[in-house]
Amino acid sequence: MRQSLVIANWKLNGDLELVNFMVSALASESYTADVVICPPAPYLSALQQRTQNTELAVGGQNCSSFQQGAYTGEISASMLKEVGCEYVLVGHSERRSLFAEDDQVVASKLVAAQEAGLTAVLCVGESLTQREAGQTMSVVKQQLLSALQNADLNRLVVAYEPVWAIGTGMTASPEQAQEVHQEIRALLATIDAQQAQKISLLYGGSVKADNAEIIFAQEDIDGGLIGGASLVAEQFRAICSAV
Ligand code: 13P
Repeated sequence: MRQSLVIANWKLNGDLELVNFMVSALASESYTADVVICPPAPYLSALQQRTQNTELAVGGQNCSSFQQGAYTGEISASMLKEVGCEYVLVGHSERRSLFAEDDQVVASKLVAAQEAGLTAVLCVGESLTQREAGQTMSVVKQQLLSALQNADLNRLVVAYEPVWAIGTGMTASPEQAQEVHQEIRALLATIDAQQAQKISLLYGGSVKADNAEIIFAQEDIDGGLIGGASLVAEQFRAICSAV
């Protein structure tokens, strides 16, 4: 049985007040899924302190591919680990498109994260143009396999986030999402058939309280990576309970 997982990606949103509010709102309930919050980096320590003695876990939204040195503005994976992170997102489409992270950078960040003892949440997904051109599977395959060249599959979660569904209110249908998740699991099985059955695969892209249950009910979907709805307590609580 795979561990179900719901991850909140706050992106560039929130403040200390939201940290306190969300922990209070979420910690009072118990969930089947593991629940992880990824706030902006300055709030990680506060979140870690507030989530002690709760079942909530903490994650980073990004990490450097470097371990240390003259890299102004970077945050290393071991620093994330030291302030209490268990997870880090790698290769989110916003990092790829807005900050020019290519497959090689994503692969090196993934290795850096795992070497620091974090579970890497590798994000993959096609753009609308790529989907319309019938390239969904080839894009996902390229992003997945290039990132996993030197990866440890024991410390891996994969999130399928179609770019056209992120922040748009346009969700992939449960069938569309399942089709890609199944393919991702089959690709993982070409690397390690046994481990592929154990890796949690998440769907992300306009998941809300009212569509979470049907998406999470798909065979190869083990939870979600949630943007906008993770900033609203009732929405996110309902999503966590939908697994
Ligand atoms: P939305 O849930 O806002 O569509 O964002 C999804 C996402 O990018 C999570 O990483």
